[in-house]
Amino acid sequence: MSTLLEVRNLKKHYPIRKGFFSKQVGAVKAVDGITLSVEQGETLAVVGESGCGKSTTGRAILRLIEPTEGEIMFNGTDVRSLNTEQLRRFRTDMQMVFQDPYASLDPRWTVQRILEEPLRTHGSAASSGELKSRVEQLMEVVGLSPYQAHRFPHEFSGGQRQRIGIARALALNPKFIVCDEPVSALDVSIQAQVLNLMQDLQEQYGLTYMFISHDLSVVKFISDRVAVMYLGRVVELAPTKELFAKPLHPYTQALMSAVPVPNPGQKKQRIVLTGDVPNPETPPSGCAFHPRCPYAMDRCKSEAPALRTLDTGHQVSCHLY
Ligand code: SF4
Repeated sequence: MSTLLEVRNLKKHYPIRKGFFSKQVGAVKAVDGITLSVEQGETLAVVGESGCGKSTTGRAILRLIEPTEGEIMFNGTDVRSLNTEQLRRFRTDMQMVFQDPYASLDPRWTVQRILEEPLRTHGSAASSGELKSRVEQLMEVVGLSPYQAHRFPHEFSGGQRQRIGIARALALNPKFIVCDEPVSALDVSIQAQVLNLMQDLQEQYGLTYMFISHDLSVVKFISDRVAVMYLGRVVELAPTKELFAKPLHPYTQALMSAVPVPNPGQKKQRIVLTGDVPNPETPPSGCAFHPRCPYAMDRCKSEAPALRTLDTGHQVSCHLY
């Protein structure tokens, strides 16, 4: 496998301004120094609680929001160096599927128009005949009937709307798709269908996914590797099987302990974390997890652990390793 995406020390800080002159008095460090890579054809999941910076990471990689610092290399191209026009052309390779398909689809447009839009914008289909047949093909690929192309988003179910969102992302034959909680707004029974579709499409088109989710059951099903985020940083990164079999970071262990086991006879001790996720405006000193960590030592309060790669290739950021 070759590396498709390499992210180094990515940061997104939002300034906090106060007073009459809007003087900057601090910053919310939504993403605070993320380094990771995504291999061609794999699914890298990014997990963590709400507010940990996982969606911001996905958006910053695609430059839907401007990163504050860091390097994003995609297929040998430095994404941050692209000007607006270069970025527009580059976007054909990098797409996004959003959490709420209803909010991300224009309710006044028919599916035909929604799917034509990227093709028109990027000039990849010239005549109206070509547009029509490409839209028909896209609808078939995601399991929708082309006869429904004249309908509006509200005429579809939640699962069907997400299929439209996926078809729109596929319109320009991308290499890489950031999927931001793509099934969390759907009923559990529909989630599996959409996840299966995404896996089939990955195989068929050689797609590479970054799959952002808070749901570990979904992550276990779909991903090859998992990056666990806490307060703007990656605290653990490992192949999915290994992470689920042997989570190392105390935060990951707590997250895993909350996942229901398929066999009710199998007992699992639930680790209940005390305290809430800290306010990112005033993150704790040292290891940001120390106020909630059952193993916190004195050192953890003052010294932030680096993300270390162990002999097994498993990466973890904790003074215990
Ligand atoms: Fe817990 Fe310390 Fe490890 Fe942080 S560095 S996770 S506080 S043991």
